Amino acid sequence: MGKAGFAQQNREKIMSHKIWLDGKIVDEAEAKVSVFDHGLLYGDGVFEGIRFYEGRVFRLEEHLERLCLSARALLLKMPWSLEEIAQATLETIRANGLKDGYVRLVVTRGVGDLGLNPHLCASPSMFVIASAIALYPRELYERGLEVVTCSTRRPTPASLSPQVKSLNYLNNVMAKAEALKAGGGEGLMLNEQGYVAECTGDNIFIVKKGKVLTPPVSDGSLDGITRQVIFELCDELGIPIQEASLTRYDLYTADEAFLTGTAAEAIPMVKLDDREIGSGKPGPVSGCLIEAYGKKVRSEGTVI
Ligand code: PMP
Repeated sequence: MGKAGFAQQNREKIMSHKIWLDGKIVDEAEAKVSVFDHGLLYGDGVFEGIRFYEGRVFRLEEHLERLCLSARALLLKMPWSLEEIAQATLETIRANGLKDGYVRLVVTRGVGDLGLNPHLCASPSMFVIASAIALYPRELYERGLEVVTCSTRRPTPASLSPQVKSLNYLNNVMAKAEALKAGGGEGLMLNEQGYVAECTGDNIFIVKKGKVLTPPVSDGSLDGITRQVIFELCDELGIPIQEASLTRYDLYTADEAFLTGTAAEAIPMVKLDDREIGSGKPGPVSGCLIEAYGKKVRSEGTVI
């Protein structure tokens, strides 16, 4: 059965999710947050999305570390230790009886008044959802994804660092809507200077003359955990990889391209703005890395 099939099966299996909410496992119907929570009123909070495969959570530590750094950047003092958050994550997955899926951790600023002042919020709230994940349809992993450039730009780091995985994803949501309307499966986002940053929910890589290139995170992308794994795999497989600022010219003239993200994993990209990249088919270097990624996620991780 394809992954899409598994996802569908899992979705059907979980009639009502068990949610970890501020220290307790509760039924989905009872998992409620206040309308005065600043996570809802202002998008004031942080989140993580983590995958688990065959009973093991992939790169749990890295994801939790990023969650803590995002919270720290927002002056959001989390009352839970890393170990407690890890246990909450594992407990939630177990409570839902899942072996493969996706777990979402959300930390909000907590309940406050109607003003912006974060210091008036009583204490942060955390909830954890474990579920199936709707990946791109299986055939897209074989055929490759078509991407369109969005007019919505990544916000400048001078306003909010793209490293902060905050609950305010409106920029990405608007870009995704734009991409879908234009018939793309994903949207390419440029930074203010016009350099390639990333896609709306994935990092981007190209292959040129046998070398893998990806923009430095300082060009406006999230420092993706999957992106880091691609660097490790290139190292293991002896494939040259390097960070380089990229323009759309570099993408249009690349031999291959692919995207990475926890939810999407690694997926070939075969078109940008209706122009074929390379042969217009998933390339060999991408294929090799995508396969190696699939093996790696199933060969390590924190036991649930
Ligand atoms: N960029 C953005 C904007 C994201 O939201 C994500 C996560 N979906 C990524 C890149 C990929 O990061 P990761 O590999 O850590 O999931």
